[in-house]
Amino acid sequence: TQQLVWPMAQFGQVVNMYQRAEASSERIFGLMDEQGRIERDEGAADLEVTAGRVEYENVSFGYEQNERIIDDVSFDVDGGETVALVGPTGAGKSTVLKLLLRLYDVDDGAIRIDGQDVREVSLPSLRQSMGYVGQESFLFYGTVEENITYGTFDASREEIVEAAKSAEAHDFIRNLPDGYDTMVGERGVKLSGGQRQRVAIARAVLKDPDILVLDEATSDVDTETEMLIQRSIDDLTEERTTFAIAHRLSTIKDADQILVLEGGSVAERGSHDELLENGGLYSHLWGVQAGEIEELPQEFIERAQR
Ligand code: ADP
Repeated sequence: TQQLVWPMAQFGQVVNMYQRAEASSERIFGLMDEQGRIERDEGAADLEVTAGRVEYENVSFGYEQNERIIDDVSFDVDGGETVALVGPTGAGKSTVLKLLLRLYDVDDGAIRIDGQDVREVSLPSLRQSMGYVGQESFLFYGTVEENITYGTFDASREEIVEAAKSAEAHDFIRNLPDGYDTMVGERGVKLSGGQRQRVAIARAVLKDPDILVLDEATSDVDTETEMLIQRSIDDLTEERTTFAIAHRLSTIKDADQILVLEGGSVAERGSHDELLENGGLYSHLWGVQAGEIEELPQEFIERAQR
């Protein structure tokens, strides 16, 4: 009977790990407290990222039937480039990324990574290729070390410390009661928003994903820490395809391309300089944030509320 029990237990464990990895990736991706809804193909091949090129081709999507939250969105990002998504709240920025992570399937069109439709590759391989650093960076109840290694299966203490150093997290972690063994998360030592974010950056550094999703923090850290964090984020995005949801336009000025979403469609697309030249929504948002104009002209507010 031992022989019979053993493989069953083993199987249970595998299922468990798989489910755990999946649930965790969703929470780590932080974009969602939602279950998602997709067609599964258990036999799908693994995603193979070569250049890291991502294409959205005529993508439309609604959470409900006959609803268009994303309406015919097309753009492409070359491997290693950074694309920033900007636009009013509700414009569809997070939804665009949920479709990339495949929490939902597109209703029309396709999203491809190096030519492979995200619907045709295995889900774990897709999620494993992506890292997320966001404002709601998720910590679970466990040690700092476990929180950093989450999503990476075999990392040495040395590699973990290296990752923490490049995330500007090593110094504060060293000063915690038990250093890397300090329990954090629910019931553990409370970390500040800026500290949680740095743990999330360390996690991403260690995971070394092909594609990075950044949801910019509306930071609650001092200017010096913010500069350090920005520098480690800059290192992280270098030579890696990056999608950044930005709230403060100053942080994405240097993005290779900026996608301005409005009501689920691409209203403008280009570099910072090109968009300023255009004189559209972006240039007005920029004007407001730079303090050059007092408020967004009425026409843009009305369009955002449609
Ligand atoms: P943004 O990130 O630009 O603020 P979102 O992608 O979060 O925009 O939201 C786009 C629209 O989709 C909004 O109208 C929002 O209310 C709606 N929405 C977002 N998530 C869900 C969901 N899980 N179910 C139904 N509607 C949603």
